[in-house]
Amino acid sequence: MERKHLLASTSLLVLFVLILTNCKPKSDSDEETLLLLAAAASTRICANSSFTGTTVVNSTATLNASTDCITGMTSSMSADLPAWIRNNFKCAVGSVSGSNYVFRSQNVPNNKSYYFGSSSPMYEALAGGQTPAGNNQIQSQCLVYSIPSVPAEKTGTKTGTQSGYVSVGITVNGLAIFNNAAAPGDTLASEVSTFDKFNGHPQTSGVYHHHAQPLNVSNNNANLIGVLLDGFPVYGQLCDGGTADTGNDAAPGTGTPILDANHGHTANTVLFPGGIYHYHYANDTTAGTNTLIGSQFHGTPGTVSN
Ligand SMILES: [Zn+2]
Ligand SMILES: [Zn+2]
Repeated sequence: MERKHLLASTSLLVLFVLILTNCKPKSDSDEETLLLLAAAASTRICANSSFTGTTVVNSTATLNASTDCITGMTSSMSADLPAWIRNNFKCAVGSVSGSNYVFRSQNVPNNKSYYFGSSSPMYEALAGGQTPAGNNQIQSQCLVYSIPSVPAEKTGTKTGTQSGYVSVGITVNGLAIFNNAAAPGDTLASEVSTFDKFNGHPQTSGVYHHHAQPLNVSNNNANLIGVLLDGFPVYGQLCDGGTADTGNDAAPGTGTPILDANHGHTANTVLFPGGIYHYHYANDTTAGTNTLIGSQFHGTPGTVSN
């Protein structure tokens, strides 16, 4: 009898977890984390005029032509941030705090998406063959990232991206980067079929995110995609190798140096002429699709909250 009860409540919990998260955030099946996310859901939105701008309402959301962000969202990078951030990041509020870069983001994409809902000016049908991720819709968030400004390789056991993070990094257009895991019982290979035309989709809680290369930022090229929590930059599938000529951009792995297990290597890039460790989107056998970040941080991750 007791055992039955236990099984019943376990089933309920599993059902709850499945309802709560279409796919894992950063991600994990840690019930405690998921429950914390649930508790935070009702107080999640903190956008206001002095923070990240006015809260985006999907039914009236439009793109601001001058900021290339949703109208009402603040897009500002403070003058003390380095040029590679100031000149590339938007649709978020960036600043320097001690030895960290801080990004605050509503996390609403500046691209059309099925997941704005059909009544939104930002709505766009899914591509043929794609299937919606339930009734999930994009919702304004309050993501705050604190990222070390001087990233360093973590020696010894590296920190996994699989648990404890509501996002593992931020894209140059202010969006959450998720790792290579899907929701329990799902594989990312199957979730790919729910991606919108820009390779993104929202969780049940409305957090729009990219597991695979964000096509609004980098169409499988060598563009800067964003930065992970450990402070190391993320690039598309190709590496610019430190030259502005895009004709010689190449996918690392076919030459030298080959990407490590975390999809990174140290090489010169246009933005970092002296060389820096950086990640690329690359083949990931865990996920069964070929444009994902690896499972561990190269450096010591900062913090993120929502
Ligand atoms: Zn997902
Ligand atoms: Zn590279």
